[in-house]
Amino acid sequence: MTAFPVGTILGYPRIGPRRELKKAVEAFWAGRIDQQELERTAAELRAKTRDRLAARGLGRADSAIPESFSFYDHVLDAAVTVGAIPERFEDLRDADGSIGLAAAFTIARGEGERAPLEMTKWFDSNYHYLVPEIGPQTSFSLSSERLVREVEEARAAGFVTRPVLVGPVTLLALAKAADGAPEGFDPLTRLDDLLPVYGELLARLRAAGAEWVQLDEPALVSESLPAAPTILGAAASRAYAALGSATDRPSIFVAAPYASLGENLAVLATAPIEAIGLDLVRGEVPAAVPGLAEKTLVGGVVDGHNIWRGDLAGAFARLEALRELGAAAVSASTSTSLLHVPHDVDDESKLDARLVSWLAFADQKVAQVVTLAQGLVEGRGAIAAELDAASTALADRLGAPGVRDGSVRERTAALTAEDFSRGDYETRVAAQEAALDLPSLPLTTIGSFPQTGEIRRARARYLRDEVTKEDYEDFLREEIRRVIDLQEDLGLDVLVHGEPERNDMVQYFAEHLDGFDVTEHGWVQSYGSRATRPSILWGDVSRPAPITVDWSAYAQSLTAKPVKGMLTGPVTILAWSFVRDDQPLAETANQVALALRDEIADLEAAGIGVIQVDEPALRELLPLKKDDQPAYLRWSVDSFRLATAGAAPATQVHTHLCYSEFGVVIDAIRALDADVTSIEAARSRMEVVADIAGSGFDHGIGPGVYDIHSPRVPSADEVEALLRRAVAEIPERQLWVNPDCGLKTRGYEETNASLRNIVEATRRVRAEVPAAV
Ligand code: GLN
Ligand code: ZN
Repeated sequence: MTAFPVGTILGYPRIGPRRELKKAVEAFWAGRIDQQELERTAAELRAKTRDRLAARGLGRADSAIPESFSFYDHVLDAAVTVGAIPERFEDLRDADGSIGLAAAFTIARGEGERAPLEMTKWFDSNYHYLVPEIGPQTSFSLSSERLVREVEEARAAGFVTRPVLVGPVTLLALAKAADGAPEGFDPLTRLDDLLPVYGELLARLRAAGAEWVQLDEPALVSESLPAAPTILGAAASRAYAALGSATDRPSIFVAAPYASLGENLAVLATAPIEAIGLDLVRGEVPAAVPGLAEKTLVGGVVDGHNIWRGDLAGAFARLEALRELGAAAVSASTSTSLLHVPHDVDDESKLDARLVSWLAFADQKVAQVVTLAQGLVEGRGAIAAELDAASTALADRLGAPGVRDGSVRERTAALTAEDFSRGDYETRVAAQEAALDLPSLPLTTIGSFPQTGEIRRARARYLRDEVTKEDYEDFLREEIRRVIDLQEDLGLDVLVHGEPERNDMVQYFAEHLDGFDVTEHGWVQSYGSRATRPSILWGDVSRPAPITVDWSAYAQSLTAKPVKGMLTGPVTILAWSFVRDDQPLAETANQVALALRDEIADLEAAGIGVIQVDEPALRELLPLKKDDQPAYLRWSVDSFRLATAGAAPATQVHTHLCYSEFGVVIDAIRALDADVTSIEAARSRMEVVADIAGSGFDHGIGPGVYDIHSPRVPSADEVEALLRRAVAEIPERQLWVNPDCGLKTRGYEETNASLRNIVEATRRVRAEVPAAV
């Protein structure tokens, strides 16, 4: 058995430094290139990745380089590898039963009436994975040898890489019951049937030359999955007893990123596996447990979740503490896959050099791991210079101008309970009724209107300095006028300006607030071929000037109907940025909230009487550990309240949330105390209204009646049926009518048709509701 490498990473970004994979995959979907060419691009990317990682110091032949490529999603890959695909896609298999690349894309994206796999958030990251569907009938069989071929490909290039695969427990724990499974069916009950396929794959990987395999089992750290940690631990115990007992296999490294393993460390320590990966960024160095003497402990001490260079000396100290546990060996790694961070900070030519010196993207983190590994082998003295340099950069960061801004800190320090409260709801309702004069079942939208090619091109030209600011702004005003006219024409009640000036609902605010910077190439995969470019929140946040006021005021000047001001809330701004790690998130959230509070005051002063503060990410940041959830919910709700509580009683505050799993966060949503909350509901056919009614939610609520994720136009009859379901459960005076989410990804053709049908359906229902005007 070869030893586990002393330094490694749990995974590397697969999209390519210039999103090469996205471009190739989308070209393949569009029929512009064939599969062979796509495979060639992917192979080139993998080759470049191996070379980059070796150049940064990971060993070529000691399994330090992970084989973590994916065309679309690693959970889909695992499901496809073991043949766990839904019945409706069975015919996509090749004659020999294997599932090819085109088939996998179809499972990911759907086709005609065949719905794709659902997508949901990967632990507490912003990455979204495809949810496998597994039922009593799912027949597991090795259905793709892609991973084996990748190991062979690397081998041919002179590398011994470490294949990475989602482990069996996590695969089942993340799966949902397939259509037609009996009520209450739990995919975990299929574990024993699944394990032989993993066993077969391990043997194949071994034959291909893999000396180590990495099985990712983040399910073992989570307290937010349907199965409790003890159940998952029991499943892991069974799974690894079986996989470990095989003789024809690579050494097994089970990685447990995203939080601490807790009691499940003891489970892995006694399993017949060779190495265990611990997240020592999110979790503490654990206490010793029996069984460790035969294991390699892989300390995830370099943050895979964030872009800070951080405290390297502290990371090394944690590795030294890990050594105290008496394991056979200790190695250094990242806490999670580097999938969550951009490639290379050296690609950023426009960032301030001082800021750059505080940062580490994926390639810099690889170098950090290599340094720590050297320290483990040669002693601290050998890496003292690197540790000191990181400490100096960190000290520089903590003391730099802008990181701490006296006036911002005075403001947050002076906050009192009153600053977080808008006062009595009924008083507000009365004031708003008088101010707004809305019909029953008021019609509105979530904010954005289609971002047409024309808008994108105009923005690109402006950013390249090809048009003047005046011309660009004239263009935007023209666009806003069109969108206002359209809404007037349709007969909506609360209008929006359409957000044509925004590239992205978070980045737009980041660009206008102090304390943030935006990158040129800092792309991070969010799902499939989609990537986002999170902003970097490095300093105290303040608002040098109003951000949205001119646009909203202009829109309001065009109509007698109320125009809704549109802001992104503090939690969402934090969730979709890389956030400073030198102070509690709560403190940072309050700073952002105060900037938004000032913006709201300015909107009010400009005559805007309805203001929406979007918080689609409220649910996303919920910690995996139950003990951490109440504190999170408290500060996240508080930051929203701080942002909005300065609004006058007559100002109607809306919020919008992009999901309908109300359950865990219903109390938090109520505590936001927004006058009106719009949520996603059309996709789940209004199932959520029963929960809302049952929870006693008594403020305004707009369950979406139009699924904007699909180009499909709902008919007026269909919308009417959804509305009737809502009216049956929720008092009419609370109910609003709106789409599920913003319209920016839709085209005008389907948007116009859909909105027209929504208006028609609303008119029909209004005519029958007794209290309707
Ligand atoms: N106001 C935003 C829009 O309409 C909200 C988007 C979101 O919730 N993700 O686009
Ligand atoms: Zn939304």
